[in-house]
Formats: sequence, C-alpha cells, structure tokens
Amino acid sequence: MKVVSILVPCFNEEAVLPLFFDAISSLMQQPGFEWRVLCVDDGSTDGTLALMKKAREKDPRISFLGLSRNFGKEAAMMAGLDYVEGDCVVLMDADLQHPVDVIPQMLDKWEQGYEDVYACRMTRGSESWLRKTATRLYYKLLQAGSNYNVYPNVGDFRLLDRVCIEALRQLRESNRYTKGLYGYIGFRKTFVCFRTADRAAGKSKMSAAGLVRLALDGLLSSSAAPLRLATYTGLLVSACAFAYMIFVLVKTIFYGDPVKGYPTLVILILFLGGIQLFSLGVLGEYVGRIFTETKKRPNYFVRTLNGEKPTSR
Ligand code: UDP
Ligand code: MG
Repeated sequence: MKVVSILVPCFNEEAVLPLFFDAISSLMQQPGFEWRVLCVDDGSTDGTLALMKKAREKDPRISFLGLSRNFGKEAAMMAGLDYVEGDCVVLMDADLQHPVDVIPQMLDKWEQGYEDVYACRMTRGSESWLRKTATRLYYKLLQAGSNYNVYPNVGDFRLLDRVCIEALRQLRESNRYTKGLYGYIGFRKTFVCFRTADRAAGKSKMSAAGLVRLALDGLLSSSAAPLRLATYTGLLVSACAFAYMIFVLVKTIFYGDPVKGYPTLVILILFLGGIQLFSLGVLGEYVGRIFTETKKRPNYFVRTLNGEKPTSR
C-alpha cells in the first residue's frame, strides 16, 4: 500500500492543534493508503510539543520533530521534508486554513501520475485589504522578474511525490523561498482549487516584517532582474545626463553662462544620488545573501524526533 505523509509545520499552535488532529483523524481512517503525520515543532514556547507527544501516544502513526528554536516556516518545512517518510507528502498549515477535504482530490491527481499537485486559493479568507492588495502586486512583480513560474494564489498547501521531495532536499540554500523552489524543480504539475478558511484558532505567526523579508527573499532568490534594473536605470540616467551635457555645452557656447543653474544642479545631484543609493541597496541585498549562503550553515537543528535524540541524516 502506498504511504501518504501529512507534513505540518507548527509554531505556537496549541490553540488549534487539537482541532487539527480531529480534522485529519477521519481522513486517516480512509482505506487505500497507509497514513502518516509528521508535525514539525518550530521552537514553540507554548504547549505545542506536549500536544504532539500526546497525539503520538494515542496514534503511533503521528510523529513529531522538535527543532532547537524557531527557525521560521521555510526552515521548518525543509526539516520536515528531510525526515518525512512515504511515497508522497501533503504539506499543510496547522491552522485549518487548508481544508482537509481537498486532500482526497489531490491524491486522485497523484494517482493519475502528477508529481506536484498544488492547491489554488479561490479566496483568501479574512485577510486585511492591505495584505491582499500587497500580495497581488507582489506576484505581478515576481512573475515579471523571474525565469520560472511562481503562481499567485498558490501557497504551501500541496502534494509532492517522492521525486519532488528528493529534488527539494538537494536545494539547501538558506534564504529559502519554497514557492520559487517548487517552480525550479519542475516535474509534472497540476492543481486543485480550494476556498481558504479562516484560521480555526490562535493568531497568525507571520508578522508584517516577516512577510516583507519573505517577499524580498522571493524576489531576490528567483531572479537577477533587480540587479539588471539597477543597470538599466543607471544607463538611462547616464544617457539623459549626456544629452543634457551637450545641451548645456551648446547653450554656453552660443549664449554664454551667467551664473545661474543652481536648481538644475541640486536636482541633478539629488536625482543621481538617489539612483546610486538605490542601486547600492540592491547590490547590498544580494551581497548580504551571498554572505549568508557562503557560511553554509545548516538551516535548522533538531532537538528531538518522537521524544528521542535524533539520528543524524
Ligand atoms: N509557522 C511555523 N514557523 C513560523 C511561523 C509559522 O512553523 O515561524 C507555521 C504555523 O504554525 C502554521 C503555518 O506555518 O502552521 C502558517 O502560519 P500562519 O497561519 O501563522 O501564517 P498565515 O496563514 O497567516 O500566512
Ligand atoms: Mg494561517
């Protein structure tokens, strides 16, 4: 029988975790597959890990992996992918925003031979207007800038075949933007649609600053377009400056130059200064990422696997 693993990264989810286990328990009674669950505790400071332990005592098909601190959802998912067993894995959030009843549809597609079945959001639940608009604009920008597809309205809710898991495990970069990585690995993809529910309990762990950081990682890790943007803007400005120089030169030759031009000077200095700072900033963002990548630090450390010391991978 084929083994299906459900992978859930959890960070301070004690409010919602019991509801989550309830929700998947009926799914796990469905025949035809051997079900497993791997919960990754991303350094929670509340009772999340204890709840996982209790769930495992009740149902040994549930395993848990405790990280040594909060590494963020991207790293938690990577840890999960490293330890997960089975022929395919279903990645989902613990907060029940990803409805469990979509999973059988995903499994159908998987059995038809697709290797990466992603769930496409039809609605975004009760997110703020600001977050929805920012997300929409961001995906437009990302689509324009990167070399492979990053689909809007597709989150981390997806089914991955073993081949995709093995592929993702080889991508060990520390500035992770998993959504871009799914595109990078390729494989046969298809989608199912779902309506995002509201969080069943607890609060969102994604702070505004965290989202901005993730967005930057996405933009800068999947393309060098921002670097090119800096180059093009520089070129454009230089071309304009050159034309203006000729203009000033000709004007001076024919009409002389009474000492004026203060506004022009100030405008030019400010404008050029701005462009230079912007380009430096773009460069700096890339250099910063090179810096963290060259350290080649592991993206996470494991404290416990099912309550015991982890065996090394
Ligand atoms: N999460 C995590 N580590 C973090 C932040 C979040 O493992 O540092 C998990 C969280 O427990 C949840 C999922 O990632 O299962 C999605 O997080 P959340 O619902 O807070 O984000 P949102 O749905 O608002 O984007
Ligand atoms: Mg959520």
